[in-house]
Amino acid sequence: MKYADEFRDPVAAKALLDEISKVVADIGATAEKPVHIMEICGGHTHAIFRYGLDKLTPAGIEFIHGPGCPVCVLPMSRVDECVELAERPEVIFTTFGDAMRVPGTKKSLMQAKADGADIRMVYSPLDALEIARRNPEREVVFFGLGFETTTPSTALSIQQAAREGLTNFTVFCNHITVPPPILALLQDPHMVLDGFVGPGHVSMVIGTHPYDFIAQDYGKPIVVAGFEPLDLLQSVLMVLEQIRDGRAEVENQYARVVPESGNPVSMAAIADVYEARPTFEWRGLGEIDESGLRIRPKYAAFDAEEKFGIGYGAESRLVAEPEGCACGSVMTGRMKPVQCPQFGKGCTPEMPLGALMVSSEGACAAYYQYGGARAIEPAE
Ligand code: SF4
Repeated sequence: MKYADEFRDPVAAKALLDEISKVVADIGATAEKPVHIMEICGGHTHAIFRYGLDKLTPAGIEFIHGPGCPVCVLPMSRVDECVELAERPEVIFTTFGDAMRVPGTKKSLMQAKADGADIRMVYSPLDALEIARRNPEREVVFFGLGFETTTPSTALSIQQAAREGLTNFTVFCNHITVPPPILALLQDPHMVLDGFVGPGHVSMVIGTHPYDFIAQDYGKPIVVAGFEPLDLLQSVLMVLEQIRDGRAEVENQYARVVPESGNPVSMAAIADVYEARPTFEWRGLGEIDESGLRIRPKYAAFDAEEKFGIGYGAESRLVAEPEGCACGSVMTGRMKPVQCPQFGKGCTPEMPLGALMVSSEGACAAYYQYGGARAIEPAE
């Protein structure tokens, strides 16, 4: 496949792995005393397991799977609010498919749909806009979910709805931003992190400068990475070289896609439509300052929280995780997915208990899909 095979070349991968082994030896990292590298993005977590990079790289590297899967960090209270909205008789609730199976305290959107709620899967907020145009007698709510990658398209749909004067289209805004949780993790005295592989798609929008604090204030290297095996191996090598050389810089391995200063059109749409919430809850991580976005008052007519009197700030916040769920420990690297007592037993991709098993970008789902399931099978 042109433009992909070049980044999956086994000979080049072997050369990079040899280089990585040399630098790991130079650093003196071992299985007992590994270098801890966090891949922030769920897409990178998926790629690491899909291509077996966790097994191909030396034992002196330990990957910590970060909070960059928006479905995985969605708090249960917000899922409950989605269900509450979707079950209103006047509402057509529209969502990306990967949010359908996230467990709430009583039910997921999938279960609400089975119970009769009018929930429709869409590929873009523009699909939701079209549903609103065709159903003027119904209220169409779009579930705005995701990091800076999806935030601009939701903003553009709100701007478009405003231009058209649509009165039956709103967004239930759950967009979140990447830098604040990284800051929270760096400030956590229990976290051991030596470097980061930075998110590729988010950085297409925001550029690389929002990560400057990681290098300048916390002395940790970060390399923004692509998603093919050679991208990831090269990025890990770049992080290791910085550690070996005593450097802490923001480097961009994915320069073929990520402009240093981001995408100005997307950033202008984000700035026009959203403002930061004072705080937002992340499943497994708790409340993080200025980590979530809400719709600005000038677009209040398109804000489902305003229109339906539902949403953040209600008493339903901070719903406890299901008993036995270790998602928070996995997300902060304190536990591997297979160490969770529920892994593969009370929690599988078919019947997820925790959010990390729902999305293919969740660490538990990736472990399970690419071999981790064998870890819980009885020996023959
Ligand atoms: S196995 Fe399930 S419950 Fe355990 S940490 Fe993973 S997603 Fe959470």
